[in-house]
Amino acid sequence: MSDSRPVRVRFAPSPTGPLHIGGVRTALYNYLLARQMGGTMILRIEDTDQTRYVPGAEAYIIESLKWVGIEIEEGPENGGPHAPYRQSERKPMYRQYAEGLIEKGLAYYAFDTEDDLETMRKRLEASKMQPAYDAVSRMGMKNSLTLGQDEVKARLESGDPYVIRIKLPRKEEVRFHDEIRGWVVVNSSTMDDKVLLKSDGMPTYHLANVVDDYLMGISHVIRGEEWLPSAPLHVMLYRYLGWEEVMPKFAHLPLLLKPEGNGKLSKRDGDRLGFPVFPLQWTDPKTGETSSGYRESGYFPEAVANMLALLGWHPSDNRELFSMPELIEAFSLEKVSKSGAKFDVNKAHWFNQQYLAQRSDEELLSTLWPAFEAQYGSQIDRAYGLQIVALLREKFQFAKDIVPAAHYFFQRPSDYDREAVAKKWKEDTNASLMALAAAFEDAASSDAEGFESCFKSSCEAMGKKTGELMQPMRIGVSGEAMGPPIFELLALLGATEVAERLRLAASLL
Ligand code: GLU
Repeated sequence: MSDSRPVRVRFAPSPTGPLHIGGVRTALYNYLLARQMGGTMILRIEDTDQTRYVPGAEAYIIESLKWVGIEIEEGPENGGPHAPYRQSERKPMYRQYAEGLIEKGLAYYAFDTEDDLETMRKRLEASKMQPAYDAVSRMGMKNSLTLGQDEVKARLESGDPYVIRIKLPRKEEVRFHDEIRGWVVVNSSTMDDKVLLKSDGMPTYHLANVVDDYLMGISHVIRGEEWLPSAPLHVMLYRYLGWEEVMPKFAHLPLLLKPEGNGKLSKRDGDRLGFPVFPLQWTDPKTGETSSGYRESGYFPEAVANMLALLGWHPSDNRELFSMPELIEAFSLEKVSKSGAKFDVNKAHWFNQQYLAQRSDEELLSTLWPAFEAQYGSQIDRAYGLQIVALLREKFQFAKDIVPAAHYFFQRPSDYDREAVAKKWKEDTNASLMALAAAFEDAASSDAEGFESCFKSSCEAMGKKTGELMQPMRIGVSGEAMGPPIFELLALLGATEVAERLRLAASLL
């Protein structure tokens, strides 16, 4: 094929459930290439297997892509020159290609029943042969290669159920170049005569996928490694259909692996290790079971896109942070690795933290505002909220965790970290806290420096080391042994409130 062909790529999911993040990565790589090359990104819904159709899955896929920032130019939502983009709605288009192959002697009708197929499999297994419907076994089956012409005609006319199968050569090398793996060579003797058109008249995945890629002018097929075994069959279909000249380039992406590195990343790994494997939360319409999503877990979409881009693709330098426009510029299929990419939970957190750091206090507050209001009600003042966010944000990887952590800015401690109290309290600690309360109330300045110098001079006057009272003071005002820089915390609460809390703590502890 010529390289001057316009770049047209497609993401072609089957709506069989929520989109796995591995699927999001596939869509992302397609999108990055399309954008880099000034090409077109297409979404095609491959729903020919009606038995696996799950309501809501298509809407979920579309919403997920939008959330991550992948823009679709042609697809079921926005239409396009090759509409419809749902294969079930394209059903009438496929039969002619399967029948065309029969005319050329490259496919055939097969009338075998389930029982016939089962008997064949058992027979082949018993003689230690591959239980496949292939160049050898097809001659013992009920199909238009073995039945007389009249019988075939009669069966077709009487409405006997049949499928159309591809007729593969017995022993022939099938080669194609994969952009990531290099040359892939398979012998047709290891392949079987796959069904192209099913008895309900629907095409199988293989036929519909190839026909649509051809009709939609797809230049690159970028998909998961699990489709690599299907690629030789697709190459044969291009050849048989006379479309070899415009066969797309293939790129089979490495698997996303479990954090330990052995095996494909599954939903169970996510449950086990506490991270989502789906972009958005999903509730199974049949079982009602809910699976967590990156969005609902508090990830920024930019962080998810950045993390996914680097699971399998390695930029020339060791840079890790890429915005979407930067990914579009830097991405290349040549730098996608052949071997699987291990999912790393800590890295996912790290990415989120990097994007959290890039948000201004105002942006964070706006995002968190509904949660703040829900938790702390009308007490909350926006300027105060802004100072809280500024003070607490450093400690967190997820913005949403700031809200519950801010409780002591709105409420007096209802309890204290008992373990820390047991460690830090001495005979005279409560007396010292009372003295500090009085000193803070009398201090001239109540900004962070004012609190700090007042604290230091009070400690000196009491003959105490600052280290001895620092923790009790923090626990006294917040109830917690850890938190943001203490004098800034005190300044935000204000001298009167601090003094009251210290007295309260002294009376209770
Ligand atoms: N419908 C297939 C899937 O669910 C598409 C594979 C391909 O991209 O060819 O992944």
